Amino acid sequence: MFEKYWQQMGDKATVVIPGWQHISYFSDVTNICWFLEPKFAKEVVRVHKAVGNAVTEDRHIVVGTGSSQLYLAALFALSAHDLPEPVSVVSEAPFYSSYPSMTDCLKSGLYKWMGDARSFNKDGAYIELVTSPNNPDGHIRRSVVNKSEGILVHDLAYYWPQYTPISSPADHDLMLFTVSKSTGHAGMRIGWALVKDREIARRMTEFIELNTIGVSKDSQLRAAKILEVISDSSERAGSSEEGESFFEFSYHLMSERWKLLREAVEHSGSFSLPEFHPGFCTFLNRVSEPQPAFAWMKCERDIEDCESFLQGHKIFTRGGEHFGFGTEYVRISMLDRDDNFHLLVKRLSAIHI
Ligand code: PMP
Repeated sequence: MFEKYWQQMGDKATVVIPGWQHISYFSDVTNICWFLEPKFAKEVVRVHKAVGNAVTEDRHIVVGTGSSQLYLAALFALSAHDLPEPVSVVSEAPFYSSYPSMTDCLKSGLYKWMGDARSFNKDGAYIELVTSPNNPDGHIRRSVVNKSEGILVHDLAYYWPQYTPISSPADHDLMLFTVSKSTGHAGMRIGWALVKDREIARRMTEFIELNTIGVSKDSQLRAAKILEVISDSSERAGSSEEGESFFEFSYHLMSERWKLLREAVEHSGSFSLPEFHPGFCTFLNRVSEPQPAFAWMKCERDIEDCESFLQGHKIFTRGGEHFGFGTEYVRISMLDRDDNFHLLVKRLSAIHI
């Protein structure tokens, strides 16, 4: 959905990689994460400083093939490898639908998906995933299990100004970010973790070494360029010769889409959407609206399976049951290309039950 912005950037965001460059497995053997490209690391620190959404001081950066790989690396690094039982992995429902399948796909002896954090009452070690803003419902989240043996992983894929007001720099032990949601470049497959503990960063690096022997250098350098353009645009925002900054552009796009979606839902009269409170955004330096990447829509009529119902109207969504919730809910992506999004609101507003 941010394609237009990147088209406008033209050569500014282009990288050219000659055939002889970036041939080795290694990037920086002095770093714990030895396959981390220094230029990418520099731009990660810079974009967090420019946006003010995460503390990077005294943190190790671990790069991953998307934050998906880093999620698995975090589970590997955080589980005790000498315990007789797998560590429980939980998240408050509705949770990101890939967590259960990613956690259990290899039936690991190290960790096991245990579902909704609200109903978790087992003793012993556990890992709680805190996704904030949350996928699918867009709400700001905190940990909910209040036990002593818990370890938290903060998935901050959506903690960027186009989706939510930035209230303060996030300062947690293990935070995950990704370009797929911040800049829109999902296909680049680049994510990063900010990790306080050196040993955890080392074990995450070890996982990626065992898994893919590092992360594409080409992608890291392309990601570095894209992040550089974003930071440049943010730092120069307001100066007359520059156009809008990336986050102003993406904020306005999200805002326009949420307006259209809310109008369509109101017109239809058959559904409801979550309501959000505006907050002061330290990056935009004004009050801004939460406008999540997904709409968590509830079917208000007597329809048991909202996903199938909408499919009958040629609207493809993901049903609430995938997120540990009821089938009267669906998740709608707000991030498709313009044409598809406009079709979606047109079809939605025409539904009258
Ligand atoms: N975490 C959350 C909460 C997500 O929504 C997504 C993407 N849908 C991911 C992680 C995975 O992102 P990536 O493309 O970086 O693997």
